[in-house]
Amino acid sequence: MPQLIAGNWKMHCLTAEAVALAQAIAAGAQGIAAELLVCPTALHLTAVAQALKGSIVAVGGQDCHQAKQGPHTGDIAAPMLRDAGATWVILGHSERRRDHGETDELVREKTLAAVEAGLTPIVCVGESADQRAGGQETEVVGWQLAGSLPKPFTGIVAYEPVWAIGTGKTATEEDVEIMHSFIREELVRQFGDAGQTIRILYGGSVKAANAASLLAMPNVGGALVGGASLNAQEFLAIARAAQGG
Ligand code: PEP
Repeated sequence: MPQLIAGNWKMHCLTAEAVALAQAIAAGAQGIAAELLVCPTALHLTAVAQALKGSIVAVGGQDCHQAKQGPHTGDIAAPMLRDAGATWVILGHSERRRDHGETDELVREKTLAAVEAGLTPIVCVGESADQRAGGQETEVVGWQLAGSLPKPFTGIVAYEPVWAIGTGKTATEEDVEIMHSFIREELVRQFGDAGQTIRILYGGSVKAANAASLLAMPNVGGALVGGASLNAQEFLAIARAAQGG
């Protein structure tokens, strides 16, 4: 299974900037063995999907509602993301858990809705700085996995320690090794043999300078990249450090 390098563009870019970024990534993506994904705002999905047509770069959403449609002002349903060209969706990102009070239960409902709409979900988990300082990191991530993943689960997990997101602080290789092997054990406990092949991404201040060592760790199936994904050359350099199938 190739590693997945996913860019989370968050609430960045106007339309022309998003299209230009997508075009620059597509132009440099030839020959990269990893799977590539970019997740612009929902507003830019159609234009970005159009710009990436014929390239190896897929497009994803950053969130979806748990209902297929209905009276939910300002929300976006999973079938709408699919209709706009998305094939993936990030769910339960810590910024959504923080800004919108998303619970594990809600993330699980959204994950079911995403799969039903034909999207592959990337479900994010990760502990806060206080939880790590209190030695609770595996307990917290274990609860998030148990609460956020439906059975069966046909998606990807992203381990994103909250203290490493957008801070320039990256988890050490030891942190990543311990947590990713814990997540693998939990996935096997929850899903049996199927848990062996679920890819586990690392996210948190990944950049070209640290990508190769992080991506070489066991049980790291790729990276979820925030800030560095807004620069095409930096994102492509991370992708070149990743492994193919
Ligand atoms: C993210 O928000 O998913 C992320 C990993 O951000 P950054 O790479 O900027 O830390």
